[in-house]
Amino acid sequence: MSNAAENDTVTAPPAEAPAKKKGGAFNRETVLEVQHFTDRLFRFRTTRDPHFRFVNGQFAMIGLEVEGKPLLRAYSMASANYEDDLEFFSIKVPDGPLTSRLQHLKVGDSVLVGRKPTGTLVQPSLLPGKRLYMFSTGTGIAPFSSIIKDPEVYDLYDHLILIHGCREVAELKYGLDIVEAARENEFFGDIVREKLIHYPTVTREPYQYQGRATDLIENGKLFADIGQPPLDPAEDRVMICGSPGLLRDLVRMLEERGFREGSGGDPASYVIEKAFVES
Ligand SMILES: Cc1cc2nc3c(=O)[nH]c(=O)nc-3n(C[C@H](O)[C@H](O)[C@H](O)COP(=O)(O)OP(=O)(O)OC[C@H]3O[C@@H](n4cnc5c(N)ncnc54)[C@H](O)[C@@H]3O)c2cc1C
Repeated sequence: MSNAAENDTVTAPPAEAPAKKKGGAFNRETVLEVQHFTDRLFRFRTTRDPHFRFVNGQFAMIGLEVEGKPLLRAYSMASANYEDDLEFFSIKVPDGPLTSRLQHLKVGDSVLVGRKPTGTLVQPSLLPGKRLYMFSTGTGIAPFSSIIKDPEVYDLYDHLILIHGCREVAELKYGLDIVEAARENEFFGDIVREKLIHYPTVTREPYQYQGRATDLIENGKLFADIGQPPLDPAEDRVMICGSPGLLRDLVRMLEERGFREGSGGDPASYVIEKAFVES
């Protein structure tokens, strides 16, 4: 019993919470809420360590402890950096090492959240502009969920344009919900209603807006629908987070139009991040 007494007084964390160890790479957060949208998509909220700071648009490594070892994947923070909780929007890959497990999360479960957020979808990598285009497919909307809740970004542009492409209408629900919540926000809803244009589009079902973003740019329908001029590197700034295919095609189109990729040390007219990596 003397060992137990010693253990009670030492500063080391209890064995069941190694992730909270001082200087460790992860925080262990508690699941507060889970919402499933389709058999491929869900969101969840967790507690947030007060020392976990990030820039809206960044991602962190998150995951589960499996057989005593962390199993981690990159996830964008979908919550804004001033919120008390963390939110993530996730795919469910049936045989995916992480998401085959993560999709069964319940309130009260633990999730590991890496302490070093990073990412390219941040304002300092872009030159000043009139319009901020955010092109996303699937879960690629997650970093933009954080950005459309950032009042400071609205001060930088006349319009924010969020394009979210999915295969089916049901997959648009998360995006519709976050935009509605931002428009109704009691503190900054006014500026969101004035400046944020949401363009949800599907490829495999009838809907108000249909087609791939690249086609909608090429044939001009996107700009006709939203009442804005075609993409112009002098005035427009672009962020892209989507499938490797979307990234490849959109980047080619942007470069053809004179856009240049920006970085922290060399801000320019567009930035990109993969929503996932193809295996
Ligand atoms: C910078 C970055 C940010 C990311 N942010 C998110 C996020 O916010 N939400 C999220 O769900 N995923 C995100 N991902 C993908 C995530 O890291 C994992 O790949 C995903 O959680 C699946 O993990 P897994 O272990 O189950 O399968 P994995 O072995 O990682 O993936 C298996 C296969 O599933 C497909 N796949 C993986 N992720 C996705 C996805 N999101 N959408 C469609 N197909 C996918 C790919 O074909 C992949 O090869 C991000 C990836 C990167 C690189």
